[in-house]
Amino acid sequence: MTTTSKKVGFISLGCPKALVDSERILTQLRIEGYDIVPSYENADVVVVNTCGFIDSAKRESLEAIGEALRENGRVIVTGCMGKNADEIRSVHPSVLSVTGPHAYEEVVSAVHDVIPPPTDHDPFIDLVPPQGIKLTPRHYAYLKISEGCNHRCTFCIIPSLRGDLVSRPVGDVMEEAERLVNAGVRELLVISQDTSAYGVDIKYRTGFWNGSPIKANMQGLCEALAHLGVWVRLHYVYPYPHVDNVIPLMADGLILPYLDIPFQHASSRILKLMKRPAASENTLARIKSWRSICPELTLRSTFIVGFPGETAAEFDELLGFLQEAQLDRVGCFKYSAVAGAKANELPDHVAEELKQERWERFMAVQQEISSSRLQAKVGQKIDIIIDEVADDQAIGRSMADAPDIDGLVYLSQPEGLSVGDIVTARITHADDYDLFA
Ligand code: SF4
Repeated sequence: MTTTSKKVGFISLGCPKALVDSERILTQLRIEGYDIVPSYENADVVVVNTCGFIDSAKRESLEAIGEALRENGRVIVTGCMGKNADEIRSVHPSVLSVTGPHAYEEVVSAVHDVIPPPTDHDPFIDLVPPQGIKLTPRHYAYLKISEGCNHRCTFCIIPSLRGDLVSRPVGDVMEEAERLVNAGVRELLVISQDTSAYGVDIKYRTGFWNGSPIKANMQGLCEALAHLGVWVRLHYVYPYPHVDNVIPLMADGLILPYLDIPFQHASSRILKLMKRPAASENTLARIKSWRSICPELTLRSTFIVGFPGETAAEFDELLGFLQEAQLDRVGCFKYSAVAGAKANELPDHVAEELKQERWERFMAVQQEISSSRLQAKVGQKIDIIIDEVADDQAIGRSMADAPDIDGLVYLSQPEGLSVGDIVTARITHADDYDLFA
């Protein structure tokens, strides 16, 4: 665990609606890497979500703010009573900010003012894209199911920063997911450092949600999330054999037919040097069998080119893998040394110009594959979740597109559409990245 972790105390008062607000704010803070702590003395700042429904609730809210100021001193106030900022400030003039209910963005930005979020986005270690640092729109939300990682990939310093895998109890995850859905979320993005390892540290201990038992593993969690009736998208999955168990759920339309699997390379020697999980699995055979069960499966992945010791032949093997695997969406990074990562000690680092050349060749191969896979969608009718609506067009995403990292679908007839709607539209054309409907 890092010694520079940023700690937020949180007091949530009031009704279930206020609790939903608290949950949204807490989810976002956790995603951004803040720790939520249960005591005043360990917190860098305290958020008080107030209730202003009746006089006794107001009194309780003012007392809670007073106590937080006495015990900690840095206090952000939000919630129903925050609508009456003057009343709060007249009693407690030193509070840092006051906002009303559903003011997620303002509360998170007030926390940023006291303890800034990480600004140096690192694509090797950060779970959410740089754009994800803002509060996610209300119709989709990230659902973090575990923290830390049991692997020791040689290019990664996550385990030394965040420790070994700690899975959240499955009942807690489901309660958070349910609250998000009750607050209007239509798409849940399941994230962790290793989603396929979910539950291994808690021995897949059965948890309960609404009185029903749920096994704390990836399949059990996916089956339970499917009951919420929203889009469920899986990120950071490794190609272990048990991943096969969630493919039928995708084929049955219970969770999105989408897997974000960071393969990172195709050469078994490089994968071993990287110490990648599931490095010995026959990935191409596995992809083939997944597609035979669920032909509409979208595969997104990331790769590293120019890893220390990568030979021309190994790089060619990677290009061959791309041709065979026909992945839908791919990100590619040139290897860069992260301070403290074991891979830095490996011999035969690849020259920068060669990394650049390999990156360009890689992108050229993949771009052709991605765009021909998009072209194949022209003429099809597909489901689209709406992210933005303007006068002359709406912008959404298909099941194949995760927010911020994949493509968009531009709809030419926005009449009657609202953000968060899921509609069916016919694809009229495609460019290299996006679809038009
Ligand atoms: S699986 Fe590897 S790359 Fe991912 S967090 Fe764990 S050690 Fe890092």
